Amino acid sequence: MRSLRIGVALALCVFAFALVPPAADAAPPPGPPETYLVQSGDTLYAIAIRYQTTIVAIKKLNGLTSDTIRVGQTLLVPGTDSAVPAPTTSYIVQPGDSLYRVALRYGTTMRALSDLNGLPNPNLIWVGQALAIPNSVTLAKPGLTIDPQFVRQGGTLLIQVARPNLASVSGTFSGQTLSFTRSAGFYYALVGISRCAKLGTSPLNLTETDLDGQTTTESANVTIQTTAFPVENVTLAPSVAAVLSDQTLVKREAEQLAALVSPRTTARLWSGAFRQPLAGRISSNFGTRRSYNGGPVGPCGHEGTDFSVPGGTAIYSDARGRVVFAGLTQVRGNMVVVDHGLGVYSAYYHQSELAVQVGQMVDAGDLIGKVGTTGLSTGNHLHWSMFVNGEYVDPMDWTRRVLP
Ligand SMILES: [Zn+2]
Repeated sequence: MRSLRIGVALALCVFAFALVPPAADAAPPPGPPETYLVQSGDTLYAIAIRYQTTIVAIKKLNGLTSDTIRVGQTLLVPGTDSAVPAPTTSYIVQPGDSLYRVALRYGTTMRALSDLNGLPNPNLIWVGQALAIPNSVTLAKPGLTIDPQFVRQGGTLLIQVARPNLASVSGTFSGQTLSFTRSAGFYYALVGISRCAKLGTSPLNLTETDLDGQTTTESANVTIQTTAFPVENVTLAPSVAAVLSDQTLVKREAEQLAALVSPRTTARLWSGAFRQPLAGRISSNFGTRRSYNGGPVGPCGHEGTDFSVPGGTAIYSDARGRVVFAGLTQVRGNMVVVDHGLGVYSAYYHQSELAVQVGQMVDAGDLIGKVGTTGLSTGNHLHWSMFVNGEYVDPMDWTRRVLP
């Protein structure tokens, strides 16, 4: 039974690769228009990509005067009947997956996945099942997924290699060595993109070794795009400003934290999307460029997301992991740092009380501590940071994506 399933999965992989059309084919005229029901998270851009058309064409077809669409709206889209099948990649269903989750991950819809795979019941998929995934901006080459291929500063890049008979994958991105993790049917690596990363195209170079020891190399380009980070002026009390102006202290604490989040635990401790540690108004977004007391605007901006909530509000763990720091620091106040494995860490600053100890395992939703205003802080708030391979990344991105 088991071997039969693997056989079917491999056959589907091969089938998926065979769907890739030869390069440089002229696009045939589209078929008659079809209707499309706008889903949560859809944009005109995403729909245009999915139907291999343009925003302008969709707007013209529907007489739209703006780019605004709403969930549940019916749109006419160019027909795909006579179109060349779009390139696809394949995905192996993992424990805990639903078709909705797979659709979300690849920026597509349950309907598109159902249609492409001929699924009679979208609620019935099984672990180990190979699903063909429609082409999207995330697909670089058959079997290689770069998600997203146009990554923003402060974003997290997911690189996935799915090929039959793979024994190992290694590679570099922008000269930095990648660490690949094996999963069922594919290998993946996560790359944290600095909030002050250089803009433009960076090379991704991969070496794939199959079970017979044959190696294949391939390369692709990833474009780092600017994020329009806001600028804010922060007024600090003289005593707080004095701490900040002590560059030796600020630098030393930053180095200690960098050392704390640099080890890469090889076990992956988390699963699914990360949770927001509490509900509350965001008072400062990740990457916001700051000027303290009218001074110069720093080059790299805010290290995390701030939530403005009353002192004493409970802070809950964003995902499963092991506590590697719980104590008082001068700049970040009472801080907890959690290792989630694979170079992914999260941190909670300025707490009034800590509820965990170093070495303790925490599950998503476990109490971490209470909100406060310890350290370099202007009032009660939670500062929430995430690190990927030592780089600060936007934690809110992790609440919207399942990586991988
Ligand atoms: Zn903050």
